[in-house]
Amino acid sequence: MKKTTGTDRSITRNWRPATQAVRGGTWRSEHGETSEALFLTSGYTYDSAQVVANRFAGEAQGMTYSRLQNPTVAMLEERIALMEGAEACRTQASGMAAMTAALLCQLSAGDHVVGARAAFGSCRWLLDHLCPRFGIEVSVIDSTDNAAWEAAIRPNTKVFFFETPANPTLDVVDMEYVCGLAKAHGITTVVDNAFATSALQRPMEFGADVVAYSATKLMDGQGRVLAGAVCGSEQFINDVLLPFQRNTGPNLSPFNAWVVHKGLETLDLRARRQSENALEVGRFVESRVPKILHPGLASHPRHDLAMKQMVMTGPIFAFLLDGGRQQAFKFLDALELVDISNNIGDSRSLACHPASTTHANMGEEARAEMGVLEGMVRINIGLEDPLDVIEDLGRAFDIAGV
Ligand SMILES: *Cc1c(COP(=O)(O)O)cnc(C)c1O
Repeated sequence: MKKTTGTDRSITRNWRPATQAVRGGTWRSEHGETSEALFLTSGYTYDSAQVVANRFAGEAQGMTYSRLQNPTVAMLEERIALMEGAEACRTQASGMAAMTAALLCQLSAGDHVVGARAAFGSCRWLLDHLCPRFGIEVSVIDSTDNAAWEAAIRPNTKVFFFETPANPTLDVVDMEYVCGLAKAHGITTVVDNAFATSALQRPMEFGADVVAYSATKLMDGQGRVLAGAVCGSEQFINDVLLPFQRNTGPNLSPFNAWVVHKGLETLDLRARRQSENALEVGRFVESRVPKILHPGLASHPRHDLAMKQMVMTGPIFAFLLDGGRQQAFKFLDALELVDISNNIGDSRSLACHPASTTHANMGEEARAEMGVLEGMVRINIGLEDPLDVIEDLGRAFDIAGV
């Protein structure tokens, strides 16, 4: 493997995110292939026993085993780090593998985590069920209340964990304030940036220490593979995350890494066009429903903050119908173009009922507290002509009596 372009890091690290998404970290084999090579291999062979001994001793560069290194995966990790403006990145088999690794690699019994109340269902499960089993204390707060973050700090607080915009309530966290507060108290901030990606929002510019991803969403963006990533300082990734990841093995497969490479090539285009489409469709939906949760619309309680933190506000929004689950189901069942699906970030428009799907496991009380009501529908706007999507939603609203 050699680098034919992009060898001078003093130049390449200054490329803008859209350039990094196409070219960052490119490695080419001796064949000089244009597209990224797929190294579908679990292991490696060596010219001599001494060569491999040197590699295992950390005295020589080179691959030893795909749980430790793989060229296709390593190229993706360098690319994502460059897009994020992070020193380093490691990828995982799914977004949840990334979140689990980002938290457990740095937490021990007796530590305390402050987490956002509004979060992806499995992210809440990590806080509500997994951490307590290992003696890690957890406080769950309203992430949009700056004072609540400060009030939750204890002497043993080690991590702040939140997503912004959050799934599925689209809560927007004041990153400059919350990350600044964390820094002042020696707390590590872990931000789940799945809804935006580095194309739309770069949390490290607001002081985040660790940015974690479900790359299944906008990064792949075409509904093909599960993938995850964790970005941070070289010290965090190499000294804290890597020992955990190498020995527990939540690694991304080279094939899935290759698919994510193909997704990243069009990430900037898709994220921008889907954001534009979601604004156009959102304006129509706002004219029809009692309540919409869309950070790109002036009616969102933190619209100004979203516009400050984000380049554009992304493809996902939610709305609330007065007729509860029955009306939400009637609406979903009447759709012709938009699919009923709980995925997001896809190039297809998809809609789902969070209370009975992504947030079904967490119990009614926690859902109500989070604002995931029975009449809530979450929608991901894809790359179709937004006028067709608007017509489809309008027809379904009519049928559901909205
Ligand atoms: C989907 C999602 C995850 C989990 O990612 P998977 O790739 O499905 O494991 C985590 N956080 C957020 C915000 C998500 O939307």
